[in-house]
Amino acid sequence: MDPFVDQLKGVCTAYPTRSKWVFVPTHAIGRTLGDRMVLEGTEWANLRFVTPLDVALLMGAPFLVERGIDPSEEDLGPALMMRLLLDLPVKGGYFRPLADHPTLAQALWATVRELRMAGVGAHQLVANAFESPAKHAEIVALLSAYERFLEEHRRADMAAVYEEAVRHADWCPIQPQDCWTELPDANWNPLQRALLDGLPGERLEPKTFELPGVSIPRRLMSSQTQRLKAEPKTNPLAFLMTPGFVVASGAPKPEVQLFHAGGREAEIEEVFRRILATGVTLDHVEIACASDAHLALVWEKALRYTWPVTLGAGISATFTRPGRALLGVCDWIETDFSAGHLRRLLQSGDMSVEQQEGFTAGQAARVLARAEAGWGRTTYGLALGHLCKSYESRAADPEESDADRADAQEKAERAARVRTWITDLVASVPIAGDEGTVPLQTVVSGVLDFLERRSARSNALDHRAAAALQQHIGELRSLGAFSCALPGALRFVRERVQSLTVAPERPRPGHLYASHLSQAGYAGRPLVFIVGLEEGRVFSSSTEDAVLLDAERAAISADLRLSTDRIDEAVYAVLSRLAVSGPTATFSYSCRDTREFRETYASWLMLQAYRLEQGNETLAYPAMKTALGEPKSAVPTDREDALSPNGWWLRGVVGAGQDGITVLGAAFPQTAHGRAAEERREASEFTEFDGHVPGAGPVLDPCAPTNVYSVTELEKAAECPFRFFLKRGLGVRPAVERERDKDVWLDPLTRGSELHAVYAALLRRTRDENRRPDKGDAAWLLPLAQARLTQLQEEMPAATAEILARETQDFLADVELFLEAEIDETRSTPVGLEVSFGRPLDDDEDPLARAEPVEIALGAGLTLRIAGRMDRINEVGAATFEVLDYKTGGFWRDKWKGVFAGGNRLQHALYGLAAVELLKARYKKPRVTGGVYYFSSHKGRQERVRIPAPTQASIAAVLRDLRDVILTGQFTRTPDEDNCRYCDYVAACGAQANLQAGRKAADARFQAFGRLAAHE
Ligand code: SF4
Repeated sequence: MDPFVDQLKGVCTAYPTRSKWVFVPTHAIGRTLGDRMVLEGTEWANLRFVTPLDVALLMGAPFLVERGIDPSEEDLGPALMMRLLLDLPVKGGYFRPLADHPTLAQALWATVRELRMAGVGAHQLVANAFESPAKHAEIVALLSAYERFLEEHRRADMAAVYEEAVRHADWCPIQPQDCWTELPDANWNPLQRALLDGLPGERLEPKTFELPGVSIPRRLMSSQTQRLKAEPKTNPLAFLMTPGFVVASGAPKPEVQLFHAGGREAEIEEVFRRILATGVTLDHVEIACASDAHLALVWEKALRYTWPVTLGAGISATFTRPGRALLGVCDWIETDFSAGHLRRLLQSGDMSVEQQEGFTAGQAARVLARAEAGWGRTTYGLALGHLCKSYESRAADPEESDADRADAQEKAERAARVRTWITDLVASVPIAGDEGTVPLQTVVSGVLDFLERRSARSNALDHRAAAALQQHIGELRSLGAFSCALPGALRFVRERVQSLTVAPERPRPGHLYASHLSQAGYAGRPLVFIVGLEEGRVFSSSTEDAVLLDAERAAISADLRLSTDRIDEAVYAVLSRLAVSGPTATFSYSCRDTREFRETYASWLMLQAYRLEQGNETLAYPAMKTALGEPKSAVPTDREDALSPNGWWLRGVVGAGQDGITVLGAAFPQTAHGRAAEERREASEFTEFDGHVPGAGPVLDPCAPTNVYSVTELEKAAECPFRFFLKRGLGVRPAVERERDKDVWLDPLTRGSELHAVYAALLRRTRDENRRPDKGDAAWLLPLAQARLTQLQEEMPAATAEILARETQDFLADVELFLEAEIDETRSTPVGLEVSFGRPLDDDEDPLARAEPVEIALGAGLTLRIAGRMDRINEVGAATFEVLDYKTGGFWRDKWKGVFAGGNRLQHALYGLAAVELLKARYKKPRVTGGVYYFSSHKGRQERVRIPAPTQASIAAVLRDLRDVILTGQFTRTPDEDNCRYCDYVAACGAQANLQAGRKAADARFQAFGRLAAHE
């Protein structure tokens, strides 16, 4: 029972034809009340639900329009505030330096509006009301600028409309013979109150319930309202704060139910199951939500189960695909066009690609990942251009199969189309001019075009949101010609998206109805669910306003809301709505935040509901938690309660134990295989699920005459045979998901290869001039290095100028260090530089290089054909040489112990043997005495690890074991987790890979790997 609704019914019955006016804060509430009265059997006529603004406009607007002033709807409020704030000087400003903060404009607008509606103008703000003179000056400046804007643009905001209206009482549509009333405790602002207080006609004092145990908020105390005593039998929720009273009154136990759930989704799922279980029609149900997130969940769930639903408060545009796409594209631009961000946006389903483009958003995301673009406007053209070229060269490679060439051609064409599409998207974002600003209207045009052509829609709500966003963002046009920094312009767009609510609707026949908790119960539906009662979610905290502190508010006007008022009014609004709800209600909360993986706790409102249900106001949270029992899950307790076939199946399987798993396995063989594989991996036997593939051994045999392996491949095969099998055996390529680290410009691989190229350029020059490097070489070497860095900066820009400067400096310092060390080095002479073998030759290859692989014969049928590239061959005596490998990273002594490191270190040995073969072209009896790993940079402290050339027998022993691993198909995952740290195949291995591999050591089929690992 709702006394106000009953009062309206009584008035309609008593005065069927008299004009009756009811003031409500929104038309939605008015229409809901009107519908409810009819549904409950009261026919009415001449009853008008109006907002104070409706009447004010009728009274004031004609006079404003006559003077050429347009009564504005104020939709532009926060955007206008931002524009006016940006016009204020930064220096000495109070809020102006914080203009980048995303919610500042909204906070300033709320304050300016509140001041205006309290009848406070700029000239009334006195300095001593403020804590800071700078703040006073800026608020006055802002309010004055706003007043000036209204004047210059001939516009009147709501405050001006109300002020005008009260001057024209004779234009009031309410006549002296009419009667009128207002929604109880509507908390009108001072200008609205002034309008209502001056109205003609008979004022009917509205009726509502007195709330036992609850104080009336300060600003509602003076409202003329009749407060009736509630009946515990019909309105038990009016006694939420005094639960003992219901028991004492002898009324029956309230029909209150409570539950908690293991997540918000599970909570809404349980609500839906309960609705289904009651058998009532959907238009008997209301779900009152404590947060927007719960409203969105109700909407999504209803959509999934095709239940018709209306949302009283509508839904924030940020929950719709077009809204999310717009915010996502703003983020993308603000992250300096980060390719990773764009890729995720394309994968999210919020962004779409028009059909005629010939590719989908998902395909564009994959192309982007493959291109390894970084960030910056130019990255897309360059990275996708490189990708196209690499596909084109594969498509033209005669050594590739026809199928592979056709595939490469198709990929080249798709990459080219994606490149054009993304380049077009990037070009639609204006570049800042000389003053560092962009025209706001150009950004608005780009955003509207994006919304029209590139935002996805998958349901009616998305279409409504897109149309509403077009209009809402289009309103920025009225800000006129105005330029600001790009991030500032994007804030205007964000504000438009975040401030828009779409699809608010009143309860409809046949539809479920979801409302905000503070607006619950107007529809009078008998079955009410109150969801989302988590601590900290139902009521905001009592922090002071960000713009005007409580003391400043109190000094400016007693009508301004203080932080304590905000809490008191919010609590009172919720309790008074619950008080007029029916006797049947279900309260719930989620005890887990499944997004943040943390426990959540019940609000005090939930506890009060529990106390009311128990009739004992001394009960505490632990008792409630115990009584609530097991949290509800998304999976129903009984499969007959399931909302969908999925839920039915899930419950069936979960409840059926091993029998269920067997049945499931028969229906879904792949799932059964997955379970079997995981069980075998956990066991101590080395099986095909661990990489035991004997059939692949002969195909991948390093000694097979058709196989050529690079030395690096062999080292990597020893490190993790499984990765070798995936890569070389199955041809699996990892999906490139890694994003470039924004704090690093040149990743270690790029930096290393660039240093290698600079080192080789220096030594080639001095070798060609038949001299040693000297100090004079710095004059051309450093510019050469700098020119290369400049080119890299163009191709893959650093995230910030600071990072670029720091890494450039470090790079050049390493080049200088290298030169100094070469000047001091007198014991060796480089004779071969970047000597490649077994790979097609470029034009500028070293004279010792050759395209054919080098055959290494180690006796007893162990002959390998290897390829590679030696960084450097040094002559250290007559026909005596060493091979040198640059390491441009740091040096850790412990990692460089031993000769072969379980087969992980083969370069010095195999390059030594290969160098002998290559040097034979120039020397009669060349000899390689050893290998050097040279840590050439500052980070590596110029350490040199020298390893004397191992005997042929010891090299043969290592390679024989490595060959055995491959030949017998022992493609195990590495037991050493260090090897997995930077591995791109980690997704293929599972979290327990190293532990599981370690467990297989005793298996006879695993012995070769054990022997290989033992070579120190
Ligand atoms: S993640 Fe580890 S086990 Fe898996 S392939 Fe890579 S290195 Fe081997």
